[in-house]
Amino acid sequence: MTMIERNLESSNLDNRTDKDILVEVKNLKKYFPIKGGILKRTIGQVKAVDGVSFSIIKGETLGVVGESGSGKSTLGRVILRLLDPTEGNVVFDDVDISYLSQRKIRPQRKDMQIVFQDPFASLNSKMSVGQLVEEPLIVQGLLSKKDRVKQVSEIITKVGLRKGDLQKYPHEFSGGQRQRISIARALVVNPKFVICDEPVSALDVSIQAQVLNLMKDLQEELGLTYLFIAHDLSVVKHISDRVAVMYLGRFVELASKKALYNNALHPYTRALLSSIPVIDIDKEPAKKVEKIKLQGDLPSPANPPSGCTFRTRCPYAYDRCTSEVPELIELEENHFVACHLYTEK
Ligand code: SF4
Repeated sequence: MTMIERNLESSNLDNRTDKDILVEVKNLKKYFPIKGGILKRTIGQVKAVDGVSFSIIKGETLGVVGESGSGKSTLGRVILRLLDPTEGNVVFDDVDISYLSQRKIRPQRKDMQIVFQDPFASLNSKMSVGQLVEEPLIVQGLLSKKDRVKQVSEIITKVGLRKGDLQKYPHEFSGGQRQRISIARALVVNPKFVICDEPVSALDVSIQAQVLNLMKDLQEELGLTYLFIAHDLSVVKHISDRVAVMYLGRFVELASKKALYNNALHPYTRALLSSIPVIDIDKEPAKKVEKIKLQGDLPSPANPPSGCTFRTRCPYAYDRCTSEVPELIELEENHFVACHLYTEK
């Protein structure tokens, strides 16, 4: 049994020991003010993240899935403190970093990295690959010049590029190779935790599997913990140990990969599963569940529906869904869902 499997076996919150947990998120909220009028006063709020709680255990990959606008990327940025939280807490490696100043958070910065979706936009085209990969070490004030050069050439080989590539510039590479450079930039400082924000969405389907396999291999080799953000359940299935489904700033379901794909409970999760092509990246179709076709678009997070925010698109919505917000409850062991259908009064 691997370390990850052992940790996952004890992933029931009640059974977890503190030493298993790397990231703990408690009732996290991120609201963006809407300004209006001549005086630019706050006239409303976009509730991008609206009370999310979960933890990530060392060595696991937690997938977070949702449509564009569900708040998943904002969640990732608040966890890394690239954005400040409105409320709630983020505890990273036993340190509550929620409201630390950027100076005080510096020791944790090195251990928390991010790989962005677009390798074209995230790499400075005027810098060589060697400079790009060395830059995070310089910013963090890590290692001597000689050791930095050694570290850069080691990581570039680990991500499947050649030392000769260090002299080249980003435009000389394909999209998949550029994402390898981005991964090298994130990993060169030896982080513990990496947020992968749709890292394969901009790549051809044929290249996606190569990059996902690389990320899995690097996780095993370097003992990394991932939060993997995607809008595509098939991509998350390939890499995740557990999966959270996010809708308008909240988690509506959180379960192990097996439970989520074989026994999805929330109507939204079922709708997302219904849209997965039969042949996905794992070559395993999700177990047949009742097909739910998603109607309409995601409502605006500036003006979400009352009660259950999914009710405007849910085929099972009834009176209670309009007036009462469903809590995320543990319906089966380690399987959490927020839907009134399972807590009928
Ligand atoms: Fe649908 Fe109601 Fe469940 Fe929301 S709470 S998912 S509207 S049945």
